[in-house]
Amino acid sequence: MSNPERFQNLVDGQYRTSSTGRWLATANPFTGAEWAEVPQCGAEDAALAIEAAHRAFSSGPWPKLSATSRGKLLRRLGDLIARDAEKLAAIEVRDNGKLYAEMLGQLRYLPEWFYYFGGLADKIEGGVLPSDKPQIFSYTKREPLGVVVAITPWNSPLMLLTWKLAPALAAGNTVVIKPSEFTSCSTLALMALVKEAGFPDGVVNTVTGFGHEVGPILVSHPLVAKVAFTGGDATGAAVYAQAAKHIKHVTLELGGKSPNIVFADANIEHAVKGAISGIFAASGQTCIAGSRLLVQRSVYQEVSEKVVDLARTAKLGDPMLESTQVGPITTQPQRDKVLQYIDVAREGGAECLLGGKRPEAAELANGWFVEPTIFGDVNNQMRIAREEVFGPVLSIIPFDDEDEAISIANDTPYGLAAGIWTSDIRRAFRVTDQVRAGTVWVNTYRAVSFMAPFGGYKQSGIGRENGQVAIEDYLQTKSVWVNLAEDVPNPFVLR
Ligand code: NAD
Repeated sequence: MSNPERFQNLVDGQYRTSSTGRWLATANPFTGAEWAEVPQCGAEDAALAIEAAHRAFSSGPWPKLSATSRGKLLRRLGDLIARDAEKLAAIEVRDNGKLYAEMLGQLRYLPEWFYYFGGLADKIEGGVLPSDKPQIFSYTKREPLGVVVAITPWNSPLMLLTWKLAPALAAGNTVVIKPSEFTSCSTLALMALVKEAGFPDGVVNTVTGFGHEVGPILVSHPLVAKVAFTGGDATGAAVYAQAAKHIKHVTLELGGKSPNIVFADANIEHAVKGAISGIFAASGQTCIAGSRLLVQRSVYQEVSEKVVDLARTAKLGDPMLESTQVGPITTQPQRDKVLQYIDVAREGGAECLLGGKRPEAAELANGWFVEPTIFGDVNNQMRIAREEVFGPVLSIIPFDDEDEAISIANDTPYGLAAGIWTSDIRRAFRVTDQVRAGTVWVNTYRAVSFMAPFGGYKQSGIGRENGQVAIEDYLQTKSVWVNLAEDVPNPFVLR
């Protein structure tokens, strides 16, 4: 690699490489070429970051700041992200290959999280409790947890970090961030803005490196109060088990196999676009991918043909170009995994209606591309319908009536999201009530907001990000009892 750009960690307000002296190369998914390096941290680095975060939580300016001042710091960080949105988006694209148009949109939207949770910081209220005891005044306080470890995946690194960072800081915690080893650069670039915004040293820290090396040290460290994890379900289960041994608070945002359900009474043109945005946007690398398209049998042929026709027109290419609609897969191992799943689908008996291989165009040869791929007549018991692919692979599954649609939709260990396409308002509400998913979109798909809680039912996760409820997962409640009586009652019995 010629002159790679080098990014450093932020620990206790200082830029640091790593105690191992090693660097991790990160590649551009469009060119396959390594373009940057981040420190390959080890146990010592993880401990330093956590100790710094613990010091910042326990002493110094951060715990003394008023909630209003905390909120102002968050809003300042939001302003700086808005200022540098283009620069950060370009780093994201170089590192993870998602479309610049999508990343720029995300970066321009992310400040809203810091404004929203910055505004919430001084509205965290306890309550005065009624008391059944004479002359007792009793109230609750809402307090931060302490050091929060935020572990993020490689798709949408800054967005998924923001969903943790904004509520964690608004609540008064300090944070140690562990970004994905594949896409750490944008998180490290963000740290310059954290410093510029004026957060006290140690309030936000980063530790880069391999998940299996530094992850367990961070998760099990005695000074860590909470782990906020987004990633795959197997890693999530390991993090959960390890955190349980040390009784940490845990929130998990995991995978999905979301049903996107098209009823015969839907506006078919809209539903077709919804199917495409559900699976081919971001090359299918989203936890909310509508990877199972459930279509009522009477419109099955029409919908399948129209989805295939529209997907066929998708322009693959350089993710930096405005004209590109589908970019590469973020990592080579993930590209290979997607291709393996295509084999699994074929072997399982699914009919390949489109794609199913790497594209042949010479200009795409160095990138980790997979053609938009569609399988028809999929049975929900096939592996391709049950396991998360995390790539541009759609399974179309026919159903006969509403009951069958609901039953297939819920026949999955996951429960992250679902889409419903119908013109019948009563059906929309009926099906919404019965689908076991944390987010349901009616006549739309893949919409998120800082105001709307997001998270999984079943094995898609625990806890909620976004919306006012998100801050609850970064707080704990203290009950305070004040005795206003002149005397102290019998000390040998429970009061
Ligand atoms: P992953 O589980 O491989 O890695 C996630 C993070 O965990 C990375 O930072 C990794 O370094 C770290 N890690 C790995 N081993 C660890 C360990 N033993 N202890 C602690 N940390 C460890 O996930 P990924 O491949 O980066 O991301 C893709 C997955 O993320 C998909 O399954 C997708 O569905 C999921 N995802 C979920 C959401 C959501 O909000 N529900 C959003 C995006 C992605």
